[in-house]
Amino acid sequence: MSNTDFALAVEDLTVSFDGFKAIDALNLYIDKNELRVIIGPNGAGKTTLLDLICGKTRASGGSIKFKNEEILQIPEHMRVRLGIGRKFQTPSIYENLSVFKNLEVSYPAGRSVWGALAFKCTDDIRSRVEAVAADIGLADRLETEAGLLSHGQKQWLEIGMLLMQDPELLMLDEPIAGMSSRERDLTAELLQRICKNRAVIVIEHDMEFVKKIAHKVTVMHQGKILAEGPMDKVQADPKVIEVYLGH
Ligand code: ADP
Ligand code: MG
Repeated sequence: MSNTDFALAVEDLTVSFDGFKAIDALNLYIDKNELRVIIGPNGAGKTTLLDLICGKTRASGGSIKFKNEEILQIPEHMRVRLGIGRKFQTPSIYENLSVFKNLEVSYPAGRSVWGALAFKCTDDIRSRVEAVAADIGLADRLETEAGLLSHGQKQWLEIGMLLMQDPELLMLDEPIAGMSSRERDLTAELLQRICKNRAVIVIEHDMEFVKKIAHKVTVMHQGKILAEGPMDKVQADPKVIEVYLGH
């Protein structure tokens, strides 16, 4: 299989912090429309891996190909434009704006038109906002001030703000932290909906949740991949059991 078949192909990726290899010659291949979950003990390098893919941290070596294009040297904002979206652990929504406005301002600037086409543009943005709001379960909350949403709804709104850019790769770091069990279920459904037309990488600890959503699971340990495959197979892997029991 050539790299063209992958949404993301990471090869021999390495980053050192003062000689400590937080990511150590790591290979990772994500298919288009795949929902991959990355698990692993604290300090395994999961967040650092996402930092490297989105461009927040510069790699020491290796290769990151997005849709077969080398992006290792490309700055973070350009990677966003290429179609890589990243959600951090703390949501960065505009609390005093409505859900509608939060989504509207996230519409990619380069695509907005003004002047004679302003009316058409407004319609385009509105239909995009409505489609995204439906995807994130906030269709009936468009006029609600974002600050009044529940913790879970705020997380979904931030995912929606990323979806406004229609990313082909979306990365979420511990998206259900602090959510109620009902919100966790709804988030699982949300992720299943949004991976239909994009690749999604999720870092998560909650094994029940991982089982529900993962197509494949990657287990990281000490900056490397310890195991990879379907959840059942990974959970039964003695190397994985050892690492988890050791913690
Ligand atoms: P995880 O998300 O799997 O818990 P991290 O990616 O946050 O792990 O961290 C992996 C390791 O890299 C940890 O030992 C952490 O202390 C270290 N690390 C992460 N970022 C930096 C940094 N900017 N400078 C120095 N060390 C870092
Ligand atoms: Mg982390």
